[in-house]
Amino acid sequence: METEWPFRLVRCKVTFPQRPARAHDLGVFLRLAELMADFGAQDVVLLQTLNSLWMFLPTEEVLGLRDALKPLLDAGFIVDAQVVEAPLCDLNSNVLYTRPDLVQHIVLYPDMPETIALTHDTPRICELCQVRPSLRVPERDKESGVEEFLCDVCAGFREKSRREGRFNKLGGPWEKENLTVAWVRVDLDYDRLSSVLRELFRRYVKANTDLPDDKISEYVEQLRDAALMVDFTRDYNELAGRFVDALRRAFGDASIEEIAGERPELLVVALKQAGQAFTIADTFVGEFSSLFPLCEDDSPISLSISISNAKYPFFEHWRFLDARERANAVRVQAVGRAELELSVPRFKALRGLGLEEMKASTKLHKAAAVGARTGSRLLEQVDLLDGIKEYPNLFAATSQGFSVADLLAYHKIAGIGGVS
Ligand SMILES: [Zn+2]
Repeated sequence: METEWPFRLVRCKVTFPQRPARAHDLGVFLRLAELMADFGAQDVVLLQTLNSLWMFLPTEEVLGLRDALKPLLDAGFIVDAQVVEAPLCDLNSNVLYTRPDLVQHIVLYPDMPETIALTHDTPRICELCQVRPSLRVPERDKESGVEEFLCDVCAGFREKSRREGRFNKLGGPWEKENLTVAWVRVDLDYDRLSSVLRELFRRYVKANTDLPDDKISEYVEQLRDAALMVDFTRDYNELAGRFVDALRRAFGDASIEEIAGERPELLVVALKQAGQAFTIADTFVGEFSSLFPLCEDDSPISLSISISNAKYPFFEHWRFLDARERANAVRVQAVGRAELELSVPRFKALRGLGLEEMKASTKLHKAAAVGARTGSRLLEQVDLLDGIKEYPNLFAATSQGFSVADLLAYHKIAGIGGVS
């Protein structure tokens, strides 16, 4: 049987149990980025991004799944894996979608004690990960005198970012000045990519052959997309690199923290002036459209931006940044105030309407003020619609199908920046 089923395709999503509390706790991402770069250099690795990994593992080798992922598990990460075993000739990335009956779902955790005895040497459970015993001596914050009991892994992440001199802006002056910051995440959704590649292939065959539709569908079903996914991932990495380079030119290094070290998929940008959140989105959309013009309508790549003051807990941002559910490629939230999710063409259309123009902006501002005063989204919307025909940009926006909620969210996000 072994000769008949010689390979395993493994698709992993890497997560972590920590809830980073301080800027230096984000060292967890520095470590993740390093480990993923090491994996990327291995022959068995097909694709990798900041937190996804696809591998082909020969099954007859002694090396098991746990051994293959050992560096991640040893560093305290959790790996959510989908595994398919099949003969190599049948094994392609699309087997995950075409043969769900063959897919095994396995979650691998780091080695952890089943129970944690609280003793003199391990007085608490770690406050950040809640899964390991703490070190004997707590970490003490020099300024506040606050003590935190951390395990060796979590203390290690903190120590790593301190040693490398990372996140000193975010954890230092930005927090002290209560500056408004944007958490920025670029991500590639492989489930969506698989269907997008099929659709692009279908369109290509239709445009270049006279084949009937049922024949085309047959070819689409047979498409083996592993090589295409590898190429796409390479272009995605190119996009992320170009995006951060363009942000550096627009904002300057002093306004950017690269949270995941060499992998430019997670950043924090200081928003020192109003309007800068959309500068970030415009920068992304510009680079995206030049590299992926065919994916504008249905994009497997997304940009998520979550805005708040610098002290707001990271974990609350991450919940938004790591949870794209709808097809919209451009997602922006100002925590507790506004949320806007649009496709790339719709985002461009909205940006092109000139809503910053004085008359439109005043009208939007007034409606938002009604909302703030009454606490009612409904009254806010009613106020905006009242007499909207006298405001050509706003009327154009509603006739293009933008909702009143979208317009108000746009206005609120455009106004954010500076010290809050
Ligand atoms: Zn811990």
